[in-house]
Amino acid sequence: MAVCLAAALPQSVSADTIYLKNGRKITATHVVQENGQVSYETSAGRLSLPASIVDRVVREIESVDSPRTTPPDKAANLPIAPPNVLAQPANDEVTRAAVRDGSIDLALLAKLESEADANLTPTAVARVVAAETAAAQFGISVGDFEQAAAHYNVALRYAPDNVALLLETAYLRLRRSEYSAALNLLDHARRIEPDSPDVAKLSGWAYYGLNRTEDAVSEWKRALALRPDVEVQNALEKAERDAREESTYREGETLHFRLRYNGGAAPELAREVLRTLESEFNEISLTLDYVPPEPIGVVLYTNQTFMDITRAPSWVGALNDGRMRVPVEGLSTMTDELARVLKHELTHSFVAQKTSGRCPVWLQEGIAQYMEGKRSRSAAGTLSSAYERHMEFSLASYETSWLNLSRETASSAYAWSLATVEAIVTVDGMISIERILDRIAAQSATEDAIHAVLHDSYADLMQSTVQYLRKAYF
Ligand SMILES: [Zn+2]
Repeated sequence: MAVCLAAALPQSVSADTIYLKNGRKITATHVVQENGQVSYETSAGRLSLPASIVDRVVREIESVDSPRTTPPDKAANLPIAPPNVLAQPANDEVTRAAVRDGSIDLALLAKLESEADANLTPTAVARVVAAETAAAQFGISVGDFEQAAAHYNVALRYAPDNVALLLETAYLRLRRSEYSAALNLLDHARRIEPDSPDVAKLSGWAYYGLNRTEDAVSEWKRALALRPDVEVQNALEKAERDAREESTYREGETLHFRLRYNGGAAPELAREVLRTLESEFNEISLTLDYVPPEPIGVVLYTNQTFMDITRAPSWVGALNDGRMRVPVEGLSTMTDELARVLKHELTHSFVAQKTSGRCPVWLQEGIAQYMEGKRSRSAAGTLSSAYERHMEFSLASYETSWLNLSRETASSAYAWSLATVEAIVTVDGMISIERILDRIAAQSATEDAIHAVLHDSYADLMQSTVQYLRKAYF
């Protein structure tokens, strides 16, 4: 899995205030006055003003909130492709009839089922399985995982021992972070076909999701022994790094979390982390109207181990790649900062699972920052003046991984993401965010989801975000 990272600002930087003659002020860093221009660094990039409109520049030390956090753009999902088996090679005709003109022929499905119920011949069963599988695959292709699961379940009622069908159903469960349910299906498939490399491969994923790293390692080793596979190879290397490091770790468990931490960390801190996470879990669950199906894995690291294991650049604060990975070097009790980081990362787990990994990064980061309690007050002036200069943020280009962004660009992306989510929540309520996430879970394009819920295009949304900032903070 690609580990997704985000920028962290330094804990404190020298922040300057540029006072304009018209009474406005701009908070910026690295202000330089030369050649009749005042140029400065902002969260929206390097900007400059004619010196003639500047009244004065005041330099001061100001603490800057650190984003210390990271996006998990497919947090709940390992980069593992669907099993390479088709549930029904034959019955092309039934398959074509079951899904026509972009919709599922439910009447045909019902008819095939009642035919099979009346006379349970292999042909009748094969037809039901082919039609229901086609319907399920169609559901997956349009993002309707709920429907897809229902169709697979009907097919499994008629063909409980069909290994290909079990694998496809398990794959869908894995995509939905329903690891225990996936494991039940895979255990059943293994009894029928003990040497299937696909069963071992997907079982490894299920164990990994359940934070049973050692079991994941042994399944993936087994899968590789049965068939070479680069996806398994990559997943195995990552899991082995985790397993080696965590073999000496201590564990803690609560209803919703499985925590692992270095023997060097204080047990009291581990207990406080779990207590904090449990209360944050309830709050986020109510806010986003979602309950993750499995306990969430959390690993606390000393800073150096965090870098070694995650291979993250030095400026990364914490990250979420399906498990929350949080460095706690030097802490012996809970701090406000750590509680915020935990809430931010936990929000990523909720959003990623609620949308089966489909939520774009800007929305993920906006919601995570909003939930941790961050607001746009200090960035409002900069963002608004960037907008006036047509240097606004392009939401469309920040949907996918932020891994390659420079620190400055990432910092600007964080600020715009927060402002956009804050504007939506303030103007239209948290329920709109929930509805947008539901639509993203069920269809691919984020801008369509935004349009369906808010009747806004991305460009409209930028404009209303800036209007909100001016109203709220100017
Ligand atoms: Zn984040």
